[in-house]
Parts: sequence; C-alpha cells; structure tokens
Amino acid sequence: MSGRPKWRNRIQLLGNYLWRVPVLPGMPIALIIEATNRCNLNCIMCPREKMNAHPRDMSLELFKRIVDDAKGYVQYIDFSFRGEPLLNKNIFQMIAYVKKSGINTSLQTNGLLLSRENGRSLLDAGLDLLTVSLDASSAEIYDKVRPGSDFRRVIGNVQQLIRLNDRNRMTIIAQMVHMAENHSDLQAFKNHWKSQKHILVRIKPFSSPQGWSILIFLRAGTGDLFDAPGFGEAWLFVRTAR
Ligand code: SF4
Repeated sequence: MSGRPKWRNRIQLLGNYLWRVPVLPGMPIALIIEATNRCNLNCIMCPREKMNAHPRDMSLELFKRIVDDAKGYVQYIDFSFRGEPLLNKNIFQMIAYVKKSGINTSLQTNGLLLSRENGRSLLDAGLDLLTVSLDASSAEIYDKVRPGSDFRRVIGNVQQLIRLNDRNRMTIIAQMVHMAENHSDLQAFKNHWKSQKHILVRIKPFSSPQGWSILIFLRAGTGDLFDAPGFGEAWLFVRTAR
C-alpha cells in the first residue's frame, strides 16, 4: 500500500463512497493522533476527565512508526483530540517529521503555552493550520468557561503569533464553541476577530460527539461570511490536506 499514489487512493475512496461500498479497500487520507491526553486546564464543556484514560504522552518513537506506516496515503495529520498538544515536549519534532514525510498537519491549542518561543517553533516545524480555542471575547465570560486560565495572556499570545506569522505561512483560526454560558459574548467575539487581519474565525456550536455541528467561518479583516453552514470545514480540510 505504501507505494499507492495519493491521488489513486482518493479516487478509489470517492468511488467507494459513490457506489456505497460498505467495506472500504481504500486507505484513510487523514489521521487524528493524540500527542497527549494531559491538559493544563479543566474547561466546563470538556469530556476529557470522564474518559477514564491514564494521563500520558505519545512517545516520539511510536509516533514516527505511525507516520512511516501512513506516509504512502495519508495527506493530513491532526494532533487534536483530548489534551493540550503543546504539553508534549516532542510536539515540534513530531510536526517537523510529519512535514518531512510530505504530509500536512494541524493542531488545536488553548493558547496558554503559545509563547513567542513556542510560536516560532510551530512556524519553523511547518505547521499548516492552528486553531486557538478562545470561546469568549471578555475575561468575565472566558473565566467561567475556562477557569484557571489567563485571558489576557492567551489573547496576547495570539496577537504575537499573528505578527510572527509573516507571509501567512500558517493558517490561524480563533475559535468559539458556542454554548449557553458564552452566548451573550457571541456577537462581540465575531466583531472583535473579524476586524483582525490574518486570522479566520470559527463558530462551532456545542454538540455531543454524535451530534451534528454547523461551522461558520468569517473572512479575516472583512467581516464577510465566506461559507456557512458546513462547507467551510470541508474547504479548510481540502486546503490543508492538499
Ligand atoms: S483546553 Fe481543551 S482539552 Fe483542555 S480542558 Fe479545555 S477543552 Fe479540554
């Protein structure tokens, strides 16, 4: 399988989909790999604590073995599941290894560890897409949703990263998971981030893992809704897994 051209795998998957083939002979084009299930926060909407997993990080050796197996067909690896990926001390080496293998990559962070040094390391490693989970535009609401975090520090980290990200090497998204607790902040969140250049805005309605989620993106710096509902995520995926 490792020699199978990526485009052939994609065409085979498309054919399987169109013909409703129940068991797919094609290989996956995207992987979600949990670099760690540890986190430095305990957000009110997070199911992580209920998942009964021992806190641990994936080793660099295991990670490389997975990437070596996947590199003939996988086009996109995402590091976000449970946990804060920047807590894994090998995360920058992992991203660089993925990129060296010809695979694009994305990561979701709560932004607390997004220091200047870590921001530069993400850019140098070649990360394609970074989502920063913010969920609020005011410290008051933020502290209710993400207790124990530091709103000013996180916002400062995002602004700093935007400045570091010259030539838009990385796509950056400011994300709000929309729930009852932050509903009053929704419009202010959109207004704040849509006026900023070089960052996209994602509003992601809260839903159960089995639930349907509609995503809305706002074009950075213009305030235009560029795709809603649903296709924004598909567009982003195709762009990142190009
Ligand atoms: S930052 Fe993410 S993983 Fe950590 S507790 Fe909050 S929602 Fe869960």
